[in-house]
Amino acid sequence: MSSYEKLFTPITIGQLTLPNRIVMGSMHTGLEELDDLERMTTYFAERARGGCSLMVTGGVSPNQAGRLFENAVVFDKRQASLHQKVTQSVHQAGGHILLQILHAGRYGAHSDIVAPSPIRSPITRFTPRQMAADEISETIDQFVEAAVLSKEAGYDGVEIMGSEGYLITEFIAERTNQRQDEWGGSFANRCRFASEIVEKTRNAVGPDFIIMFRLSILDLVEGGSNEAEVVTLAQQLESAGASVLNTGIGWHEATIPTIAQAVPRAAFAEYCRNVIDHISIPLIASNRINTPEVAEQVLLSGVADMVSMARPFLADPKFVSKAQAGRGDEINTCIACNQACLDHIFEGKISSCLVNPKACHENELLQPPPSTKAAPRKFAVVGAGPAGLQCACDLAERGHAVTLYESSNQIGGLFNLAKAVPGKNEFSETLRYFTRRLEITGVVVRLGEKIESSDLLEQKFDEVILATGVIPRQVELEGSDHDKVTGYTEVLSAQNKPGKEVVIIGGGGIAFDVALYLLEKNSAAMRDVGAFKAAWGIGQEESRANPEYDITMLQRSTGRMGKGLGKTTGWIHRAILRKNNVRQISGVTYMKIDDDGVHISIDGEVQILPADSVIICAGQERQQDLKLPLEQAGVRVHVIGGAKQATGIDAKRAIREAAELALKL
Ligand code: SF4
Repeated sequence: MSSYEKLFTPITIGQLTLPNRIVMGSMHTGLEELDDLERMTTYFAERARGGCSLMVTGGVSPNQAGRLFENAVVFDKRQASLHQKVTQSVHQAGGHILLQILHAGRYGAHSDIVAPSPIRSPITRFTPRQMAADEISETIDQFVEAAVLSKEAGYDGVEIMGSEGYLITEFIAERTNQRQDEWGGSFANRCRFASEIVEKTRNAVGPDFIIMFRLSILDLVEGGSNEAEVVTLAQQLESAGASVLNTGIGWHEATIPTIAQAVPRAAFAEYCRNVIDHISIPLIASNRINTPEVAEQVLLSGVADMVSMARPFLADPKFVSKAQAGRGDEINTCIACNQACLDHIFEGKISSCLVNPKACHENELLQPPPSTKAAPRKFAVVGAGPAGLQCACDLAERGHAVTLYESSNQIGGLFNLAKAVPGKNEFSETLRYFTRRLEITGVVVRLGEKIESSDLLEQKFDEVILATGVIPRQVELEGSDHDKVTGYTEVLSAQNKPGKEVVIIGGGGIAFDVALYLLEKNSAAMRDVGAFKAAWGIGQEESRANPEYDITMLQRSTGRMGKGLGKTTGWIHRAILRKNNVRQISGVTYMKIDDDGVHISIDGEVQILPADSVIICAGQERQQDLKLPLEQAGVRVHVIGGAKQATGIDAKRAIREAAELALKL
């Protein structure tokens, strides 16, 4: 039974009564843009079967100018007919679904973009064309038309996207609306666009169709709305016919993180309190709500009537049913990394999920288990890092007998180092998930055993999966054996505490992790909402960093460090390093390390960088020493993750490879 009483208390929106207070929030996945909506259908139906009773699609544009990307579709009659299979499947699975209508405004990634005023955003290449007054009226009609079409397609309602800095918000905020006509100037005029869309949509779709409006309750940009304006707009939207208000935090151009790991859980929910007492329709809290406990807490605090989660449903389609059944410990928790969801979208790829590679790829990876239960095969998986854990659990779920060997005395491999990095401690949820999944699937776990090929041969395994991961690459440099030199694993596992003056050799993701670890490991900003707001200057003066370490990062290649950092999170890591005065020097030739420090030359000029500690973050090498002897003995061996290819390895690739392999065996 659920211990989340408030979360599973029914709620009524308009004419619709829902069994719980969880909304699967809108998330652009790229599935909306495919010619055939088969994958989108499977994706949503899977989540409806998992107990999600109200979900919102990714945004679709009401017209050509409002497209997010060049290849994004416009929601027209043809699209509406394609969407029928989505709505039918969701309804058959017991869920309800809203279509999000999103006009990207000046955030569109194409040259044909429009906005209330011709002001370019700091995050896009093109300057928008100012909308003429008749174009504004036409755009309102196109929102209405899209809503009418969505009703014909079987949707239960629409979400009108009015937050995050897209077109509607661009009308509302002075920052982007400098018009002097009836659509600009006073706050009332700036809100006219939003209110007319809702009012005309309500008139067109009738009283029963849900109109959810996504309201920006905190813009986090200069020239955005203030608290009183947010409340006034919320009341206007209710009067105009909105059935429910969802909330959004921060424009995309804001330089404050809003959904990444650096944000404490539910950090922004409190801002709903400004609105909830001033409206009578339900209000939904959002952003960094990723467990049933956090969701329940938000509801109990009285700031909102419902909670919206988007990424947590990529991570686990059965989030709701598991929570309801009191099996919250089985939930695969979204770790807010953005690596396979938002980063994919910005790279023009279909979204997925680092901890659940089947998300949005259900049609490829979510095949029913073969009938192996009758004749299970015997597998050994060597290495209990991300790849080994995923593969062992998937194989066991498919009916095989699986033994998982791990030479250390804990599962997790590099997850254990990652979870020490500030902002990555959500990886401990992934470890909790796999610990439970190993129990449920009956994998035999043998910890603290350095297995040899002879042992594996003796056990007569049918097949062996090597997921032995990587080891740090050593550098060949005079003085690399000096006492002040240490590896990143020793630092992140707290075996070595560096001195004040630190030089990091390497400028990749691990070097950034080490720098963040040293700078932020004692900081409360990633756990405590108050400290987070102070660190980022939200509603108060930004607190000044007083770093414990004086850090210099070095890399051989020229150009910017951290090229492989995530598109949607790399800027946050760079900002934290900048606030802490971390020096970054590229194009370095290493000469030696000695008592004086690190000797380098740049363009032929020699420099000595004083260092109490030198941390080597020079990449990784694969470990697969069991492969050859096993193959020579005729055993079928599969190598996955870092053991297969160390370059560029991360948990996303490791888990995906493991899931793909397990499906074939
Ligand atoms: Fe969450 Fe990361 Fe998965 Fe995105 S990729 S849904 S942020 S765990």
